[in-house]
Amino acid sequence: MSANGFFDEGELIAVLTTQPLDRTLDYKAPEGGCFLGAFVEVPLGPRKVLGVVWGPGQGGFDLNKARSVIRVLEVAPMREEMRAFLGKVADYTLTPMPAMLRLATRAPGLGDPPSMRKIYRLGTSLPDRMTDARTRVLDVLRDYGGLAFTLKELAEQAGVTSSVVKGLVKQGAVREEDSPRDLPFPRLDPDLPGKVLTEDQASAVAQLRAGQRTGKYGTTLLKGVTGSGKTEVYLEAVAEALRMGRQALVLMPEIALTAEFLTRVEARFGARPAEWHSGATMTERRRVWRMVGQGEAQLVVGARSALFLPFRDLGLVVVDEEHDTSYKQEDGVHYSARDMAVLRSAICGARVILASATPSLESWANAEAGKYDRIDLTSRFGAAVLPEMKPIDMRAEQMQAGTWISPTLRQAVQQRIEKGEQSLLFINRRGYAPVTLCRACGEQIACDHCDARMVEHRFLKRLMCHQCGETKPMPEICPSCGVEGKLAPVGPGIERLAEEAEATFPEARIAMLSSDLFGSARALKAKIEEIAAGDADIVIGTQLVAKGHNFPKLTLVGVIDADLSLHGADLRAAERTFQLMRQVAGRAGRAEKPGQALLQTFQPEHPVIRAILSGDEEGFWKAEAAGRQAAGVPPYGRMAGIVLSGPEVGPVFDIGNAMARNDAPLRAIDAQVFGPAPAPIARIRGRHRVRLLVKAPKGAPIQDAIARWIAPLRLKGDIRLTVDIDPQSFY
Ligand code: ADP
Ligand code: ZN
Repeated sequence: MSANGFFDEGELIAVLTTQPLDRTLDYKAPEGGCFLGAFVEVPLGPRKVLGVVWGPGQGGFDLNKARSVIRVLEVAPMREEMRAFLGKVADYTLTPMPAMLRLATRAPGLGDPPSMRKIYRLGTSLPDRMTDARTRVLDVLRDYGGLAFTLKELAEQAGVTSSVVKGLVKQGAVREEDSPRDLPFPRLDPDLPGKVLTEDQASAVAQLRAGQRTGKYGTTLLKGVTGSGKTEVYLEAVAEALRMGRQALVLMPEIALTAEFLTRVEARFGARPAEWHSGATMTERRRVWRMVGQGEAQLVVGARSALFLPFRDLGLVVVDEEHDTSYKQEDGVHYSARDMAVLRSAICGARVILASATPSLESWANAEAGKYDRIDLTSRFGAAVLPEMKPIDMRAEQMQAGTWISPTLRQAVQQRIEKGEQSLLFINRRGYAPVTLCRACGEQIACDHCDARMVEHRFLKRLMCHQCGETKPMPEICPSCGVEGKLAPVGPGIERLAEEAEATFPEARIAMLSSDLFGSARALKAKIEEIAAGDADIVIGTQLVAKGHNFPKLTLVGVIDADLSLHGADLRAAERTFQLMRQVAGRAGRAEKPGQALLQTFQPEHPVIRAILSGDEEGFWKAEAAGRQAAGVPPYGRMAGIVLSGPEVGPVFDIGNAMARNDAPLRAIDAQVFGPAPAPIARIRGRHRVRLLVKAPKGAPIQDAIARWIAPLRLKGDIRLTVDIDPQSFY
């Protein structure tokens, strides 16, 4: 390898591939040579696979046997900082490198040479005859507002054959164009005028700008009540990064990435940013991936995996709603996008802004410890004020059996309906009823594959397992005792609450918001926008609604069961309840009208409920921090979850027991191991799950110790082991 990282033709190079191998493979550099980091196609057995030139070859075998790289792909080589980042995430999460490379190349057809292709857009005329199929095609084009599709994508999205699209082209209703693949994104102009900022906002912006201009790593916790202008403020930090010629990334929970937000970005910078999320078409994904690598996408707005895009010069990462649990990926590579955003930025000299109305205890503690800067925005923008929060003491309410809306809440909703304002009834449970019980024998209907109760979904007319997604029809007779007609729903879910609301407020327009009621994220977002426009009197929602949507007409939030998430084995139960309730309450009174939040609770004196009601956040956090410190749990200690799973419970436990006995590598760092115990969900999809928890002092090299601990294991047959560092959910 030459000093600038170039390998001459025939030189032996090590290539990291996306194949599940535990090492790099040696190849000969291709004709014309190649650079370190180049994306290449290499032969592996009879196949061609994607890889990255990782360094000089290891050698140690007959050089004549080495095969040559097939070709170098026409994409920007992987930068050194990206290789370092992937390596560090691999070490942190105990993930093999090929899996990291897969995460960093999640765009199909990366290797395809740039070429022309036909794309399809909305045309100007209407077809002479409308059919359902034609309507669907035009709807898709309209929904995506000006985006172009390939023939295949358009036909698939609309669920029609390509001849339907071709027919519309003939009629001029759809336009067919030649376009180069992978166009650069339009330039964003950071110098278009922004909003006139309030004093608070302006000083926050000044601080963030100054940070941005250092060109060095630093993390700021931007804490501000919902509606205080955090988005306005961080967009100014984005502007500063763009002015410096650097790229910016705004991460959001998938569901918060709405058209409303994109429109705001467009209004500020004069063009739309690149988007990276699960709803993006394959063509768009590849375009984003390539353009990010060439520096032709200045701003990316995306869900967590956007963090692994090949930015050429990343200068800022904003993590919006930084406390959101969806930042933790819980399958494949178990990583926290928030934490890894900080890691990536430290490597490439970028700034990080963690924005939230209700930060995670981790971020709060990092700010307390001086590792992060902290900026507070304390008042809502304009006339909007924080909602008044009050408990409804359910012990004192006259409730009819099988109903969940208390008389006090009913009256409050009624008043809003009369004034033409919106109410939100919040319940964090999908489906109709969480439990289906046989009144004859007491049997609760459970999933055949999981240790979970089946949840009735009237909307689907089926019972569903929320673990594995398995559904079955509602049985007529009890599967346990055979008695007919005695199965009854117990407890409320969102669908049942909607039924009660319809009966209680027959004249109201009711909208239900739950992830499983919509076929796609796009359909759900469309619904959210309709609601924001005032298309409902009562919104009934699960935790989806807590995420950053703006419902200007909403002035009342009723929390049906504030106690629901207080209990549970999860060490973050109190924190989650606190965040969720405050977020939900923050939905009320975002515009001019003051809001009110009413919390139905049987425990109004519970410390968490009291902290929510009094708005004493610092008090809540201090108490929570003290509790965790005393217990030595995160963020004041380190944890890892090990889950073993297999088709038979016995062998899985045997391995777990052996691991618990042979814990010398853990003891060496003063870590303790708990378990093996059945995981809180002891069976998923027919696989038995056994969990060990490792608890280590803060600062202990827990990954090293775990790697040494599990290295000697030889897992037989179908037994699998997953490691989750810093587990977020304990299942
Ligand atoms: P947050 O992100 O903290 O919830 P936003 O940035 O979304 O707050 O601001 C809430 C609302 O107030 C938005 O509609 C936003 O456009 C508006 N807003 C905030 N600050 C200003 C400002 N300085 N001038 C005009 N409108 C503002
Ligand atoms: Zn199941």
